[in-house]
Amino acid sequence: VFDVYAMSVYRDQEWTGTIFVHRDITKDYEVDKMKSELVSTVSHELRTPLSSVLGFAELLLTKEMKPEKQKRYIETIHKEAKRLTNLINDFLDLQRMESGKQEYHMGEVKLDELMMEVLEKTSIPSSHALILRDEMENSIVKGDKERLTQVMTNLLNNAVKFSPQGGDITVRLQSIDGKASVIVEDQGIGIPGEEVSNLFQKFKRVDNSESRKIGGTGLGLAICKEIVDKHAGDIFVKSETGEGSAFHIELPLMRENQSHSITGEDKI
Ligand code: ADP
Repeated sequence: VFDVYAMSVYRDQEWTGTIFVHRDITKDYEVDKMKSELVSTVSHELRTPLSSVLGFAELLLTKEMKPEKQKRYIETIHKEAKRLTNLINDFLDLQRMESGKQEYHMGEVKLDELMMEVLEKTSIPSSHALILRDEMENSIVKGDKERLTQVMTNLLNNAVKFSPQGGDITVRLQSIDGKASVIVEDQGIGIPGEEVSNLFQKFKRVDNSESRKIGGTGLGLAICKEIVDKHAGDIFVKSETGEGSAFHIELPLMRENQSHSITGEDKI
């Protein structure tokens, strides 16, 4: 982004030419954009939970009520405050990533091992059955283990969250055409076709009653995309309303001779 201004040059009161000055203001422009984004986020996304916290706190302070009712109000305040914290943390995470301030510690990551660790740590409710189909042969990618764990955890949590009626959650690991592919599939509410392409944008949430009831910040997938992009990978979703969704992650595999494994040729 440039701004341009022109100066006319006169000599002996006679116009002799014009000087055009071009100034690169891309950085100022980006900072301005980030600021206005922050303002609109604060006004739209933080106000609703905050007014709910305030409203219920005021009721508790000013009205006599039965302990059960008090407990319900306190639970609501707790839920909304938690939502605010998640929102702020996710927003700061994303902002750090977008401004290039997030450091990535790239190393060799065995994706199948990483996925096992994620599955062990994520609590899958008993209403869901977890199925693992590991067909990965080579699974080494160049990546930041912590950030990739964040992506997989997010997809798995979404699979549980958006299949409130339960069902199978299938995790498929494959290596095809020089790529490692991880698919997290659920049998949940699915995503309407027209929403699929925008879903990885900030604050995008499917606008229907089912999604609204489930709640969330609409930042998780934007964070996933930012991380996967940094790994030169792809993230996309295939889904059918009412049938379920399958989120795909594809990452470039490291070639054998890029990894430190000792092959016949390496031995002297
Ligand atoms: P959040 O889950 O906090 O709303 P995300 O960025 O993780 O934010 O997801 C954005 C939206 O994408 C969700 O609000 C939901 O509408 C839709 N979505 C994500 N994962 C799934 C899924 N597994 N099944 C159905 N819809 C999903």
